[in-house]
Amino acid sequence: MQHEHTTVSHRFLEVRMESIGGLGANLAGKILSESGVLRQGLNGWYAASYGSEKKGSPVKAFIRFAPKEIEIRGTYPVDEPDVIAVFHEELLHEPSTLAGLREGGTLLVNTKRAPAQIRSQVGRDDVTIACVDALGISVREKTRINTAMLGAMCHVIPLLDVEAVRTGIAQTFSAKYQHLLDANLRTFDAGRDEVIEQAPLHELDVDGEDAVAIHPGVTPKKHKHRALGYDTAFIGGTIPTPGNSYHKDLTASRNGFIPAFNVDSCIHCAACEQVCPDACFVWETRDNGKGRQFQYLTGIDYQYCKGCQKCVVACPTDALSTIADDEEYVLAHRVVHHFAKEVEVR
Ligand code: SF4
Ligand code: SF4
Repeated sequence: MQHEHTTVSHRFLEVRMESIGGLGANLAGKILSESGVLRQGLNGWYAASYGSEKKGSPVKAFIRFAPKEIEIRGTYPVDEPDVIAVFHEELLHEPSTLAGLREGGTLLVNTKRAPAQIRSQVGRDDVTIACVDALGISVREKTRINTAMLGAMCHVIPLLDVEAVRTGIAQTFSAKYQHLLDANLRTFDAGRDEVIEQAPLHELDVDGEDAVAIHPGVTPKKHKHRALGYDTAFIGGTIPTPGNSYHKDLTASRNGFIPAFNVDSCIHCAACEQVCPDACFVWETRDNGKGRQFQYLTGIDYQYCKGCQKCVVACPTDALSTIADDEEYVLAHRVVHHFAKEVEVR
């Protein structure tokens, strides 16, 4: 597939990474920009924007490249990127994540889902959708997702020299974490190899009803840029970003695993409740059949679950077990806290 941003001869190449504190987007941005400038001879600029620097808070990283004969003077954030790399798919719910993505650009998402499903969610027919299961790769290799995302970015941005970025990763890890180097290089290669892409729908030679027939789940829509602003803001200007204390969505803090609940094995002892740091367990008061009221565990509200697995360790039966994090499973099995039903904002 020939991407529009194969060269930067016509103008800058601009990349924006949308991430969550703890996923390593800042380090990925540094490695990528240094590789472009020091090893490929490009002009480059890099900056990151983050709030409290704590795990789980939103992070944006910006990269701008230009050929060496073109100076980069601007230090403003990347508002109209050629490529947006989303480190956690939960961020797709946030309107500002896709803001300004250029027509013909690329949306790269860390997800197990297919490009057609992502396209259906974001409503952009005019861009390439690229999906990579960076979390799955990092779980497999016991690394972090940022090196998998670096590999995927090398796949979708042909301008980037794979060996230059590989050398950047090697230098970064050999300085302090030599024992993690081989696993991170394997993670990088897998990220590059395992990208699944879908071109903009007009390039697929299908449109309208045909697009739906060929790509189930795709709803043809007029191309629209969903900028965050007057028309799209929540009442009061609230930004329910993952990590925001209003919505308290800890989904993006998980590192690949969730607890699964099997009610048939549960003895309702509340050992899980006592160790859970985020009150994820949802209880219901019912008659115990002997005329007494009793607390029964009904399930887990995964919105508040950071995936620490303390509950699995504490459970005396096999009612709780560790499984791979999976959005479809979470949607099907989440038991919503009674109070959360009152403040649901999506
Ligand atoms: S610790 Fe296990 S058995 Fe006890 S209430 Fe929780 S899930 Fe049920
Ligand atoms: S994994 Fe951690 S946060 Fe999630 S329900 Fe279990 S104890 Fe609570």
